[in-house]
Amino acid sequence: MPFVEGLRCRECARPYPAEALHFCEWCFGPLEVVYDYDAIRASVSRERIAAGPPSIWRYADLLPAAAEGAVNLGAGFTPLVRADRLAAELGLGELWIKNDTLNPTGSFKDRVVSVALTKARELGFKIAACASTGNLANSVAAHAAQAGMQSIVFIPSDLEAGKVVTTAVFGGRLIAVEGTYDDVNRLCAELAGEHPSWAFVNVNVRTYYAEGSKTLAFEVAEQLGWQAPDHVVVPVASGSQLTKIAKGFAELHTVGLLDEPPHVRVSGAQAAGCAPVADAFAAGRDAVKPVKPHTIAKSLAIGNPADGPYALDVVRASGGAFGSVTDEEIVEGIRLLARTEGIFAETAGGVTIASLAQLVGKGVIRPDERVVAYVTGNGLKTIEAVTPRCRPTATIAPTLDAFAAAVPTDPAVPDPAGAPTPASSGAWGPQPHARPSHTSEVPQP
Ligand SMILES: *Cc1c(COP(=O)(O)O)cnc(C)c1O
Ligand SMILES: [Zn+2]
Repeated sequence: MPFVEGLRCRECARPYPAEALHFCEWCFGPLEVVYDYDAIRASVSRERIAAGPPSIWRYADLLPAAAEGAVNLGAGFTPLVRADRLAAELGLGELWIKNDTLNPTGSFKDRVVSVALTKARELGFKIAACASTGNLANSVAAHAAQAGMQSIVFIPSDLEAGKVVTTAVFGGRLIAVEGTYDDVNRLCAELAGEHPSWAFVNVNVRTYYAEGSKTLAFEVAEQLGWQAPDHVVVPVASGSQLTKIAKGFAELHTVGLLDEPPHVRVSGAQAAGCAPVADAFAAGRDAVKPVKPHTIAKSLAIGNPADGPYALDVVRASGGAFGSVTDEEIVEGIRLLARTEGIFAETAGGVTIASLAQLVGKGVIRPDERVVAYVTGNGLKTIEAVTPRCRPTATIAPTLDAFAAAVPTDPAVPDPAGAPTPASSGAWGPQPHARPSHTSEVPQP
């Protein structure tokens, strides 16, 4: 990382050295990594990146840690999928899904953790810690295992089984805390003070962690042939990912990798049961008021988001908006993406897709825009959300008669959308709650 000049306060711009610091001693503002963009511009090229590793580390020149000896399970380099069937259902022209369900531990958190633990190891830390809504726990435990670091991970005690098991399997210490994520986070801020030898990826090394999310912009631009999209839809928990995606597109132009200055409209996606940033946007407020989360989208359930005000600024300045969607809409968003594009997302992905539909309905996202929706986590981790709706079409005895009785229609001529229609929903649709028409799956205007 010859290109890192140091850290700087986002509020008062005071400079700090590139150490395990995350807030300004003067004004308590968050710190940000400062790069020597002139030196990067002289060094990077599209060819150099194309020749790099198939992971986030191909963009190491724009990351705050060295690729050499990185803590790396292979995060990033995930597919950008042209989603024509979903676009047709939503009435969009050019829609792409950034499929980050395919990361090593099944979520985009592998990007930020790979950067955070690489930097933590450079700084001499031997213990990795975090406060997590689930996916971060998986990722920290896995990356720490690969790096030979100890891990101690804190989660709310009501998390999905798929997130508890997939963290515990890596063998670190996993502490379930009776409380919300915001309670867990407060405890971890106190613990970070007591244990300066622990690298809390989202506390004392958060400044570096956050930079990993820029790779979500870098990859999309590279995959679009070094062009920026017109509009992106990004799920919001702490708001860090959203702000860093915007920063990522801007940096590409700063260092000469994008010819034109990008004009990317950035829209955020939240669950209505935990929508402090979307609510502030809707009310035209600058202050993000903390809420107590009640939503199935547990990975996004941060009631007091650290980067909420910055996410709000990015969305407003870029001409985007916020979606705020109910649990019912989240489930329908998961199913809509699955049956149109063959991608099974966790609840956060349902929030993104349902928000996409909502913002198309409001005319915020337009059919003439090139749109990218970020689907950030894998559905296998939150099967509880869809289990009641996703069951066998029929359970039968192993005989031809039983099959014919259970499935009277011809399976060779399924509904073109692959969804239940009024005529066939009895046999091919999800049995208990089949809807009369697939067009009603996500509410349209
Ligand atoms: C953590 C998380 C997010 C949001 O991350 P923030 O940077 O905290 O806003 C989005 N999607 C998934 C699946 C996550 O786990
Ligand atoms: Zn400051």
